[in-house]
Amino acid sequence: MKFIFNCIRFVFRLIWRLIWGLIWSVALSFLVLVGVFYFTTSTETGAEGLSQALRTTVTQVDQFLTHQGLSTGFQTNEGIQSHQLTDEHATTGARWDQPSATIYIDTNNETFRSAYQEAIDSWNQTGAFTFQIINDKDKADIVAAEMNDGNVSAAGEAESQTNLLTKRFTHVTVRLNSYYLLDRRYGYSHERIVNTAAHELGHAIGLDHNEEESVMQSAGSFYSIQPIDIQAVKDLYQS
Ligand SMILES: [Zn+2]
Repeated sequence: MKFIFNCIRFVFRLIWRLIWGLIWSVALSFLVLVGVFYFTTSTETGAEGLSQALRTTVTQVDQFLTHQGLSTGFQTNEGIQSHQLTDEHATTGARWDQPSATIYIDTNNETFRSAYQEAIDSWNQTGAFTFQIINDKDKADIVAAEMNDGNVSAAGEAESQTNLLTKRFTHVTVRLNSYYLLDRRYGYSHERIVNTAAHELGHAIGLDHNEEESVMQSAGSFYSIQPIDIQAVKDLYQS
């Protein structure tokens, strides 16, 4: 009886030591990483540099775990940053001659490709405007591309060239910003990425911002193409 008791106690002690060993190893590795990042990547010194190194470590470890498929949904202090701004589009007052344009999808990113594809399908289904996908970038009226820019606060942009005499577009480039849209810390769902693509294509059609329930809201990307948007395209191309 005493022997069995001793055995159980031995096993428990062993498990206890293993757990503590593991905790110590993890804690020690973490501290070493913080130290490494402090001396290599921190741009500040003292407490600010240390907190910078700490954030870098947490982000790196989290990214590593995510990469290994072990993500626990663990968030850093920065957490899910709310990012809302779709773009800072200025009114152009321009449109295409006809309610149709050719478009070339200029990205190899699968998420963006399918988002553009879905957004194009949605616009085409409205019957108000038709995008025709072509494979020749030089011949396309519209180029649907991507960018990776943290210096701008927008999730996308639409850059247009207009014939100022006729007020007609000659070329439009739309871009989705992977800096926000593809960084899971900003929490963009596939649906919101598609809405962002549909929004930028709305600018490529000639639509301005509309703060009603509309795909053209300047922030949020919470709405897909709404009846109000279809009407706006019809009005724009009526004359
Ligand atoms: Zn916009």
